[in-house]
Amino acid sequence: MSAKGLSIRVRGTVQGVGFRPFVWRLARELGVTGEVSNDGQGVRIAAWGDEAELDELARRIRDEAPPLARVVGIEVCGLEGQGWGAFRIVESGQGATTTAIPPDAATCPGCLAEIRDSAERRHGYAFTNCTHCGPRLTIARAIPWDRAQTSMADFPMCEACAAQYGDPADRRFHAQPIACAACGPHLWIEGAEGEPIAAAVQLLRAGAIVAVKGLGGFHLACDAMNAQAVAELRRRKARDAKPFAVMTARPEDLCEVGAPARALLESAAAPIVLLPRRGAVPDALAPDQDHLGVMLPATPLHHLLMAEFGGPLVMTSGNRSDEPQVIDNAQARETLAGIADAFVMHDRAIENRLDDSVLAMDEAGAPIPIRRARGFAPAPIALPFDDLPPVLACGGELKATFTLIRGGEAMVGPHIGDLEQAAALGDYRAMLDLYRRLFDFTPEIVAVDAHGGYLSTQMGERIAQETGAALVRVAHHHAHMAACMADNGVQDGQHVGLLLDGLGLGPDGALWGGEALRGGYRGVERVGGFAPVPLVGGAAAMKEPWRNLLAHLRVAFGADWRAAAGPVIAHLPDEARLRLAESMIDSGTNCPPCSSAGRLFDAAAAALGIYPARISHEGQAAMALEALARPFDEAAWDVAPALEWSGLWRALLGDLDAGVAPGRIAARFHATLARALAHQAAAAGAPGGHVILSGGVMQNRVLLAALRREIRARGMVPVAHKQVPANDGGLSLGQGIIAALGERGE
Ligand code: ZN
Ligand code: ZN
Ligand code: FE
Repeated sequence: MSAKGLSIRVRGTVQGVGFRPFVWRLARELGVTGEVSNDGQGVRIAAWGDEAELDELARRIRDEAPPLARVVGIEVCGLEGQGWGAFRIVESGQGATTTAIPPDAATCPGCLAEIRDSAERRHGYAFTNCTHCGPRLTIARAIPWDRAQTSMADFPMCEACAAQYGDPADRRFHAQPIACAACGPHLWIEGAEGEPIAAAVQLLRAGAIVAVKGLGGFHLACDAMNAQAVAELRRRKARDAKPFAVMTARPEDLCEVGAPARALLESAAAPIVLLPRRGAVPDALAPDQDHLGVMLPATPLHHLLMAEFGGPLVMTSGNRSDEPQVIDNAQARETLAGIADAFVMHDRAIENRLDDSVLAMDEAGAPIPIRRARGFAPAPIALPFDDLPPVLACGGELKATFTLIRGGEAMVGPHIGDLEQAAALGDYRAMLDLYRRLFDFTPEIVAVDAHGGYLSTQMGERIAQETGAALVRVAHHHAHMAACMADNGVQDGQHVGLLLDGLGLGPDGALWGGEALRGGYRGVERVGGFAPVPLVGGAAAMKEPWRNLLAHLRVAFGADWRAAAGPVIAHLPDEARLRLAESMIDSGTNCPPCSSAGRLFDAAAAALGIYPARISHEGQAAMALEALARPFDEAAWDVAPALEWSGLWRALLGDLDAGVAPGRIAARFHATLARALAHQAAAAGAPGGHVILSGGVMQNRVLLAALRREIRARGMVPVAHKQVPANDGGLSLGQGIIAALGERGE
């Protein structure tokens, strides 16, 4: 009866997202016969029908794919033979690798409607999910993506759930974490009596701090509009100044939310988005910041909590100080005792810690990734190459991630954090193990940072030894540049890179951090960079910005710097400490030369009196300087556009002397830097060429916007990060692709 047969192959993230039942429903609706199945490459469809029906099927597969699917390619070709009876879903057979686990996804509109509807059996149920939403990587114990291999294995399905699970016409067909109040996880509260949500809300209204077990870890919650509660949370957490994220159903009450930001907030990844503050928001939420990190409720538990509470809640990671977020009930009781007044707990285990992802928005409304974790991992990133050999890249030490590269894809692991924290190091190992199983991955090459002291480097060395893989050491700033190229699908070639960060080891053994490089994946040469200044006291200079101010003043003005410094002296410590520091500089004791852009920002901030004595977290002073500059549109100082800063310092001190407002000085500082960098890029590159912008300092949106303008004005094309962070969180991607291509080139 069928006139024609078609084979349709769909590639991309199409497994575990309801693709087969979607095709099944379409085919039945159109009266097409055949079958749909998963295999190692995606979804395969064999369909028989008349020409119009088949065209319609192919078109709608492309246009109406399920919400969590990411279709990368559809190939259609003719098919011999005859159709079967009714269209059917073929279960994955032996040998078919259906290993894909999609990222965790925010509660979908269908599930949200159910938990709000008193006539539904999942009314008010905090663990409602379906094929289009719910926990994924956070509950995965092993592959394949199957309930028995997740922390839902502890909850046998009730009859009603089992019926939905088995019905291709149901939204919950093969939804592995399917649950209801009769069979699924449940919620309770410790430290208070009564119904958990109501009791938690009562405490929160009274200004208490409540630990809430979320999707990828525990949060600490308090009333975001209660300045006293926010201050108390800071005190108990021993967190001086790092911004707190806020969960709210109405972000527009707190921030300016444009259409692109709204779309990002409402995406399945449901990240924290940094948005311009407006209205009366307690300063203690984000001291010195003009932006606030906000996210929407993204799980049924959070929806229920927010609906009952009615206002914004601080939702900061549940940890002490800089440790990783806790994920386990017992661990939470122990670690968060003394911080939280009560605990909203549940009995669905978090198998894998996934921090909230964080993005900012650039001047054109495009996202700038800052932390890539929940909602993004483990989705692969497409690379501008095919058939790359399997490479494991181990990343940096702070903001650590690893990356697996194979074929034309990079599987960038989630943000793990600071590996010097024992718990983070354990998470790194566990997540890497899971990824290797997930993608059935054995590395032929292991790529590490050139810095042998990084714990990630040492881990990579061990893995290379154990597996017999070749070890490749990649220079820090080359990796930053390659990461940004790969992130943007840039082909190899002679590109210019501006790599600005805190610190990284250069190939000459010096401490780099403000570099202009030229080249591509297969190699770079340094064509310029910040003039080095002494890093006074080594690691102490990371914490105490005045050391960098002193170093810059000494380099700019020599031994007579006091005469030039004027009022800036007030931001430096007493004479005895200054003289000690100067004698260290003079004798070269613990003062390695360093071309760091991050330290220049610290020094400039200190000169304006912004945290000269001490910062509590990396980038604190620089971020305050950025916020100070943002409202002002100032031209660069009239100084030579070189990456040598004596002219800049003379102008800065002159402005201070003349009583120019600090915000204007901060804006002129950013503009001067951008102009000098763009000038350097133009001198090193060709018109029309790419200028690759990476390193943690590129998260400064004032600098990034100015830099892009200046680069475009010189006829070149700025390229900034889109998918992985410019900071060391993106490093592993760059290491991986350099190692993959380098090996092949030999
Ligand atoms: Zn759903
Ligand atoms: Zn059930
Ligand atoms: Fe770096």
